[in-house]
Amino acid sequence: MISPSKTFIGGPMSIRFFSRPRLRTICAASVLALFISSVAAANETIALKAARLFDGKTATLLQNGVVIVKGDTIADVGSNLPIPDGARVIDLGDATLSPGFMDAHTHLTLDYSGNYNERRLQELDLNVSEQAIRATKHARATVQAGFTTVRDLGSRFVASREFVDVALRNSINKDIVVGPRMLVATKGIGATGGHFDPMNGFRDFLFGREPDYTDGIANGPDEIRKAVRFEVKNGADVIKAAVSGGVLSLTDEVDTPQLTPAEMAALVDESHRLRRKVAVHCHGDQAAREAIEAGVDSIEHGSFMKPETLARMKNKGTFLTPTLMASEWIMGKMNNYPLALQAKAKAAYLARSEMFRNALKIGIKISFGTDAAVFPHGQNAKEFKLMVDLGMKPLDALKSATASDAELLGIAQKVGTLEKGKLADIIAMPGDPTADITVTEHVSFVMKEGKIIRTGPATAETAATDESIDIGAPVD
Ligand SMILES: [Zn+2]
Repeated sequence: MISPSKTFIGGPMSIRFFSRPRLRTICAASVLALFISSVAAANETIALKAARLFDGKTATLLQNGVVIVKGDTIADVGSNLPIPDGARVIDLGDATLSPGFMDAHTHLTLDYSGNYNERRLQELDLNVSEQAIRATKHARATVQAGFTTVRDLGSRFVASREFVDVALRNSINKDIVVGPRMLVATKGIGATGGHFDPMNGFRDFLFGREPDYTDGIANGPDEIRKAVRFEVKNGADVIKAAVSGGVLSLTDEVDTPQLTPAEMAALVDESHRLRRKVAVHCHGDQAAREAIEAGVDSIEHGSFMKPETLARMKNKGTFLTPTLMASEWIMGKMNNYPLALQAKAKAAYLARSEMFRNALKIGIKISFGTDAAVFPHGQNAKEFKLMVDLGMKPLDALKSATASDAELLGIAQKVGTLEKGKLADIIAMPGDPTADITVTEHVSFVMKEGKIIRTGPATAETAATDESIDIGAPVD
């Protein structure tokens, strides 16, 4: 919606983001060369073969999977399909083909994974351009880990008016930066002093003013509408709001409601009128109940939600994006956080396992989302093991990161399953994910819109991160 090279893909909540590179050249010879190579790429047929295939829909893996890709589109999918004449065959051997993974909750422009106070100081020290350049590394690590689409839920730099997530999305769409397809939320919306208030915890008026709707801070239904309009005007594909307190904010309690029912009604109404979905950061049960009644599309985190609240989500068709990796990371690196945040993190962590098990029991829609940035970018797939350890079936976990996320993001008509006519977002992981879900952490092949982004295991250069955590048994 920012770039003229985007094409609208239809559907009431769908987003314009599928770019087609435009030819810009300086002389006739390079025009011709570029033209020939782009035609060749557009017409190339690639046959991907692997021992198994997960198509995003069916409840079993297909044996001897084949996907035929023509240009940027899937031409055919099946078991033991004949290889078309002239096709380039890529045989991935003892691997499982899958739709590209999606992560419905990332912050690619940010990195909160180190020491909290050092990171906070660094955010003030570095100019925003340098932070934007760093974000390109996060984008590359994410797509190389097999995540071909992300919903990026908030990008803010204290006292800055920059829209770095919009710039990153557009640069990826124009093939300037390697990264996943992004649906971005810009700054997110929240109350004064709430989880999203960027000046939370700093000395009063240190930045010379109180944050306002241009920072995503709004109070009262009319201001909430203004903030939604402002974010859509500046390129938001999705609206994010903080309706309860959070873990990594200094001056609020983790589960208190932060928007009123009237504010949430305005938030959802204005966003849906502008054909944007609404994702809400919410740990607390009361805030979740009110947000579900207001008609939000997804609850992010949801740590303290009670069974009655989950049952209401089921009736309304609201998605839960559990972000188990975020609390897992914080618990494993507790000394990185101030004491006040440690107490909030522990409370959320202790509640979320039971909440997740109840969500499975009740059968609500679960989307795959991690809160990447709380932990280093590129480790998104560790969420799969956490979901499976808490009782989710491996194929249901894979489905959450493919077909379910595509539904939540409003892009299911183009991506999320391996089906004829869909965009060729295809990955492969070694071995069999139904036998060992952690193979998702070792994706060996990544194709996005027919372009091969990575083939072969991670090298030192492509390895997602230098720091890691061990994931143990779930905590009750
Ligand atoms: Zn988040």
